[in-house]
Amino acid sequence: MNANSETKRVSIIVPFLNEQDNLPLLYARCTQVFAALEEEPEFVFIDDGSTDGSLPWVLATAAKDPAVKYIQLSRNFGHQRAITAGMNRCTGDAAVIIDADLQDPPEVIADMIVKWKAGYEVVHAVRSERKGESGLKKLLAHVFYRLMSQITEIEMTVDAGDFRLLGRKALDALNSMPEQHRYMRGLASWIGFSQTTVEYVRDARHAGVTKYPLVKSIALALNAITSFSGTPLRFIFYLGTLLCTLSISIGIYLFIIWNFIQAGPPPHEGTTYLTLAIFFVSGLQMLCMGILGQYIRRVFDEIKDRPLYLIKQTNLRST
Ligand code: UDP
Ligand code: MG
Repeated sequence: MNANSETKRVSIIVPFLNEQDNLPLLYARCTQVFAALEEEPEFVFIDDGSTDGSLPWVLATAAKDPAVKYIQLSRNFGHQRAITAGMNRCTGDAAVIIDADLQDPPEVIADMIVKWKAGYEVVHAVRSERKGESGLKKLLAHVFYRLMSQITEIEMTVDAGDFRLLGRKALDALNSMPEQHRYMRGLASWIGFSQTTVEYVRDARHAGVTKYPLVKSIALALNAITSFSGTPLRFIFYLGTLLCTLSISIGIYLFIIWNFIQAGPPPHEGTTYLTLAIFFVSGLQMLCMGILGQYIRRVFDEIKDRPLYLIKQTNLRST
């Protein structure tokens, strides 16, 4: 056996949406990182419906460097599905998922590979600091990650984004999961195996603007909660129980007061309170039905069983 066939291959999965100013630098920095390692890289660039010069750059680079692979999706399917496409098709012994905007420093990949070689199947990169993000987004992210670890049934790494290394076993496990609502961070924790973390400082975006404004981030957070937690459903149950007990108790109390203790007709302002109460309770019901609706929608989405993404062109074979 020659030395080459023992060289392990690490796929670098890069989903991108209009990142023409970032991709060349990302490619250069990753190449530099791998120059110092014994593993060989396989770049898997996933075009998630870009309209700028990103895809032409990727195609041109793929023509020059056989380590560069690409998958062009038929339209924008969203970050999480673009990652899924890359994971399905990559051929590495391990894969690292990294954002195209250089917020995740490629140099951390070397640390992840050290842990992987030490036997860990999943290596989460945990942000010790976030640069260049709004105060509100940072605060909400902080609260969200801690809330999630409280209300979900599985152990989820706090402050880990999508920047992580997955060994082949973990990749195969994740690829076997067909669900439509893919919250990769949750799924990666759910599969188990031996998992560990490396710390890093999250940089500011190198160029371009974020494709995850606050509203989209909140949508991702809601997706995460309904995918991995039954707590909102239990919350409805407790709330309903509390409301029923309270209203029955108050009803009995008023009945006794007005009929046996206080003589005369009930005070007039009771109608006002009653109206308020009706509004309050019906509002609450709508809120609860909204939560239920979220779950029912998910059942509907899963049942449709549509493919997660469609590929327009790629130089990777399906596995
Ligand atoms: N991205 C994508 N499809 C989308 C949105 C984003 O492939 O619909 C890519 C984007 O190009 C980047 C990564 O996902 O490489 C993370 O997005 P972004 O940096 O905009 O999110 P943020 O870091 O601000 O949360
Ligand atoms: Mg970013």
